[in-house]
Amino acid sequence: MKDNNIMIYTDSHSHIYDSTFDGEVPDVVERSIAAGVTRIFLPAVDSKSHASLFALANKYPENCFPMIGVHPTALNDNINYKDELLVVEQYLRNPPVDKFYAIGEVGLDLYWSKDYLREQLEVFRAQIELSLLYDLPLSIHTREAWGEMVKVLSDYKGRGLRGVIHSYSGSLEIYNIIKSYGDFVFGLSGVVTYKNSGISKDILHMDICDIVLETDAPYLPPTPFRGKRNESAYIPYICTRVAEIKSLSVSDVASITTSNTRRIFGV
Ligand SMILES: [Zn+2]
Repeated sequence: MKDNNIMIYTDSHSHIYDSTFDGEVPDVVERSIAAGVTRIFLPAVDSKSHASLFALANKYPENCFPMIGVHPTALNDNINYKDELLVVEQYLRNPPVDKFYAIGEVGLDLYWSKDYLREQLEVFRAQIELSLLYDLPLSIHTREAWGEMVKVLSDYKGRGLRGVIHSYSGSLEIYNIIKSYGDFVFGLSGVVTYKNSGISKDILHMDICDIVLETDAPYLPPTPFRGKRNESAYIPYICTRVAEIKSLSVSDVASITTSNTRRIFGV
């Protein structure tokens, strides 16, 4: 991992504004920049964490790029779930930051509960419409809902959909289907560094121009940090593993995945 000073890494999905980083955020950003990870995209989750997300984005406008959206699990068991969507619409009309770079993270999650699929579908579709209306990419979360996800996205085929399928864990078949629906890239996380993760043989068949890197910090730390808190400074570990799998140099993977994020997010 020499040559960090000339490499620009991008973390396409990081929650370093999360409360687990309270009091340490400037250090976390400094460590990230020192590791060459100078571009960090921040997905929103729900109204409880918006203030810390906006504060971070406003403090580091050159390095931290905010998104706005409602995470699917924020809708589970929430009688006021429609209010979360209203808040997002309000922020899009009057941004409390320079600008939003994506609608995210949004999507479907049937891992924790299958009882709120109707609410999740309603809010996900509304947020896809917002992404088209504001011409912003989507940052899409999918957990145990790939069939439902493909079905929803198919309804928007040909309408200019674009975005990131975050922490991609689907099959090669789903990768090809989603690619046919719009300009999508696929986020690879620390999971690629886990032995027996099973994803490496799929990555072999994915086009490097479809790949972006992400930490999903504080979750999914790469080896050798498993069991610890993840942070954006660990992107080079993920990059190195992807370079190994694809038989490319680390600097090529860093620069190609960074340019893929420029294409999707426009920055
Ligand atoms: Zn996330």
